[in-house]
Amino acid sequence: MKVGVLALQGDVREHVLALQECGADPVIVRRSAEIAAIDALILPGGESTTIALLAQVFDVFELIRDRIRDGLPVYGSCAGMILLADRVLDAVDGQRTFGGLDITVRRNAFGRQVDSFESDLSVKGVTPAPLKAVFIRAPWVEQVGQGVEVLASIQGSDGREHPVAVRQGTILATSFHPELTGDHRIHRYFLEQVCRSATRIK
Ligand code: GLN
Repeated sequence: MKVGVLALQGDVREHVLALQECGADPVIVRRSAEIAAIDALILPGGESTTIALLAQVFDVFELIRDRIRDGLPVYGSCAGMILLADRVLDAVDGQRTFGGLDITVRRNAFGRQVDSFESDLSVKGVTPAPLKAVFIRAPWVEQVGQGVEVLASIQGSDGREHPVAVRQGTILATSFHPELTGDHRIHRYFLEQVCRSATRIK
């Protein structure tokens, strides 16, 4: 299985290392021929607006959107989650996403004064708990559609629980950055649960 990491902007190297430490052989991708050749894709953390703009500059935006729509297994962390969301709150004017994941996310939801923090999470399918999660200007999920499974939630400043890890079939997304902690269980979950289920469907 050829796993690509989209290398337009963001923490590409950290995802590559995490995948390698899981025993995968990742490739970095940014051109259409490279993206056409992969069996799974990771959208890194970074800045969702910049990644979307660069995807248009490199003329791969529609290709990525269509491959996700056609069932390419994909995992997005933080900015990657935003890029997978069908609906974005607090987006910049004209911000586009690849979509595919039936959620509404709020960008930079955790507020300015707590731009970064760590939290111990309990993530469904990842044992034993807890998983240390790093949040950096992270989004949270405001609303999920019917086919979306919530894997982890956290209480926001509004006092409500908000999903921060979700899965819809072949699409996995987290508000946090498992690529930064050295604990690769989310990457392993992606490779073993999400990618394998996609292979079975084919
Ligand atoms: N706030 C960023 C965005 O909107 C995401 C931050 C991150 O990926 N760490 O894309």
